[in-house]
This record gives sequence, C-alpha cells and structure tokens, in this order.
Amino acid sequence: MTLKELTDHTVREFVKKYGRQPRWIVAAPGRVNIIGEHTDYNDGFVLPMAIELYTVIAADSSTQETNQIRLYSTLGDKPAVVDLTKPLKPLPKGSWANYPVGVIAAFLARGLNPGGFDAMIHSTVPFGGGLSSSAALEVATATLLEVITGKKLDLVEKALLCQKAEHEYAGMPCGIMDQFISIMGRENQVLLLDCRSRKPELVPMSDPSVTVLIINTNVRHQLTGSEYPMRRKQCEAAAKILGVPSLRDATTELLEHAKGRMEKDVYHRARHVIGEIERTQHAADDIRASNWPAVGQLMYASHRSLRNDYEVSCKALDTVVDIAKVIGLKGGMFGCRMTGAGFGGCAVALVKTDAIDAISKKIAADYKKKTGIEATIFISRPAAGATVIKNNGSGSPSVRTNICARVSVPA
Ligand code: ADP
Ligand code: MG
Repeated sequence: MTLKELTDHTVREFVKKYGRQPRWIVAAPGRVNIIGEHTDYNDGFVLPMAIELYTVIAADSSTQETNQIRLYSTLGDKPAVVDLTKPLKPLPKGSWANYPVGVIAAFLARGLNPGGFDAMIHSTVPFGGGLSSSAALEVATATLLEVITGKKLDLVEKALLCQKAEHEYAGMPCGIMDQFISIMGRENQVLLLDCRSRKPELVPMSDPSVTVLIINTNVRHQLTGSEYPMRRKQCEAAAKILGVPSLRDATTELLEHAKGRMEKDVYHRARHVIGEIERTQHAADDIRASNWPAVGQLMYASHRSLRNDYEVSCKALDTVVDIAKVIGLKGGMFGCRMTGAGFGGCAVALVKTDAIDAISKKIAADYKKKTGIEATIFISRPAAGATVIKNNGSGSPSVRTNICARVSVPA
C-alpha cells in the first residue's frame, strides 16, 4: 500500500466516523534497525532507518465539545475520549490509547493545549513486530499536535517527549532510537545515533543495487514482561562491576579482566553490548563506503551475539537467518539478523536489488517448510521521517508517492 493509498483509506474512515472531511493529516514511519540492538539503553550506537510503512492520523477540530478529544484507531479495540477539563492519567495497562494520550499529556504539561478534536488513526506498521508501531503512533500524534497548536518543537525535544509518553503512559522503559528515527529519518539515508550525546548523524545509503528486506516471522512469544527490564538490570550490574558509568565506556579487555567477578549471565550480556556498539560504528563506515559484504558480515555477527550472549532470539528468527546463510553471497544475500527487542518479530536482511524476487520466494518457501508459518516480507528504501500531509480546511492532500511495498510471495 502506498502512503497515498493509506492516507486515502484513513480519510475515508474519518469521513465514515465523523461525517466530514479532516482538516489535518499527518504521517510517521515505522523503522527497522540495521544494526545496534540493545545498545540504546547502554548509551551506545544504533543504526536505524525509517521504512515505507506508516501510521497516519486524520483529524479535525471538534464541532461540539471544545474540551473533548476523540481518538479512534481502525486497529485499536475501544475508542478513547480525553476530557481536557480534567488532569490526564494513564488508561489501564495495555490500552492502545496510552501512546497518544501520553503525548497529549506531555503537550498539555508544556502549556500547549490543542483544544477538542476528532481523530482517526490507521497504520501499515505491524504491531509488536519490532518495527516500532508504538513510536510511529506517538510521533504521528506529536506531529498532529504541533500542527494544531502551531508550535513546532525542536526535533530532539519532540523525540524525548514521545519517549517519556511511552515510559509514563504505556509503562515501557524504551530507549530513544525509535522516536528519533521516526522523526529524523530521511530518504536514502540511515541514521547513526549516539544514544549518549543524542547526536544524530545521517549516513547516505543511496546505492540502488542494495535493498533492505524485512521478514516478519509472524511469531510473537508470550513473555512474562520481565525479560527486557531484567536485561537492563544485568547491563547496569556489569557496568557497576567494571566501574564505568555505562557499558559504552567499557572495552572487551576490561570485561575479560573482570570476568571472574561477574555472574555468567551478566558477563554474556555485557559481551554482547560491548561488541555490538563496536559493530554498529563499523557498519556505518562500511555503509558510507558501500561495502555491502562487510555490512552483511557484521549483521550475521550481531545475530550470533544476540542469540548466544544476549539470549533474545528464538527458533523462528534463527530459522530465517539460517536460510539467509544458505542463500549466501552467491544468491545475492549480504547478511541477515534479528531486529527489534527479540523473541519473535522481524529479521532484517541486506540483499542485492536484482535478487529480491528470488530471495523472497526462497525465504518464504523454506520458512514455511521449516516452521509451518507464513512469513510476511517487506522491502523498503530508507524513508523520510514524520510529515504533515495536509494542514488546512480545504484543498486536497499533497502526498509523497513513495512506495510502501509488500512483496507477496507464494510459499
Ligand atoms: P512495536 O512498537 O514493536 O510495534 P509495541 O508493543 O511497542 O510494539 O507497540 C505495539 C502497541 O502499540 C500495540 O499493541 C498497540 O497497543 C499500539 N499501537 C501501535 N500502533 C497503533 C495503531 N495504529 N492503532 C492502535 N494502537 C496502536
Ligand atoms: Mg514499540
């Protein structure tokens, strides 16, 4: 589905629900992290790119209740109604509307009151697949509120505001990567983000001979919820033993010296993070040099480390990476790894553009044979970050026409 088609669909849903045309339309993309996994909360580097899958919000000021915000999502269960005359607080845990409501609360806390409005939300970013539908929703909401209030935030401030919404309203102690890339993404560029200084650096990736393939395993493991906080704690414990503020400041030598003073798990977690921070910086250099085989090797190494040391992979993700290795350089596959927090969700691969069809078919068929599950495969060029598509009461939306492609492959 193109962004134009997604926008048209969202507008139709808005009109169906509210009986009038929307005055504002905004979009924010999901993202895929090329490399740099579980490094963000360790002050390390990440290397994400925005993808051609988006969350779109169509909205208009309220016709009746000036102090009421109505939020509908085509994909959310219940609509949410926000009463602006009362202090906002989080909805019950797990409510989809916590993401937009958290952003609204942050704007109100800055004295930026959008007044009552009606909104319709639709998205092509799959939920919980490691492509950050949550940040796309937060960033789309923040972009809408900027348009409504007429106050454009500093980009970093906007990202931090969205992150805080996720912490405080959705109860998820996420890092800063997802919100930064959904805001700062640029076409044909990936983002090397230093999570310590918060300094973003765009890295050109415009070589048309390579394409990023995203393979959704369509597996999502039921976790107890303790896995992510537990790993954060283990990283903090490792940093403490090493006597450094965070694992960003540690080196492999330092870690090896302290090995005997650490629990085995803590050592392994730290080894992943320290190695991954290095790999991410190397990958940015290799992308700059269009050295795709080198980037691919770093992706495989990242996967190995996430599987063996960080222990956040799973059978479905390992299966995809094993299939990629069989395809190999000869078949046009540079490298592949799990992406996102892990335990299911998506793998990301770097492939030769002219081999996309053959590779997609092979991955889909072999994955189905080995797991019995249909994978969903997307291709994407590095996309632009959040945009305002329409900002007035009249006229037709001007929409970028980049493609949000989904390869459908018969298994
Ligand atoms: P990820 O960010 O990897 O997709 P998360 O668990 O962080 O996974 O966020 C997914 C949750 O975000 C969904 O379960 C839902 O509550 C919310 N969400 C994201 N996009 C939308 C949307 N368009 N409509 C309703 N809820 C959404
Ligand atoms: Mg998320």
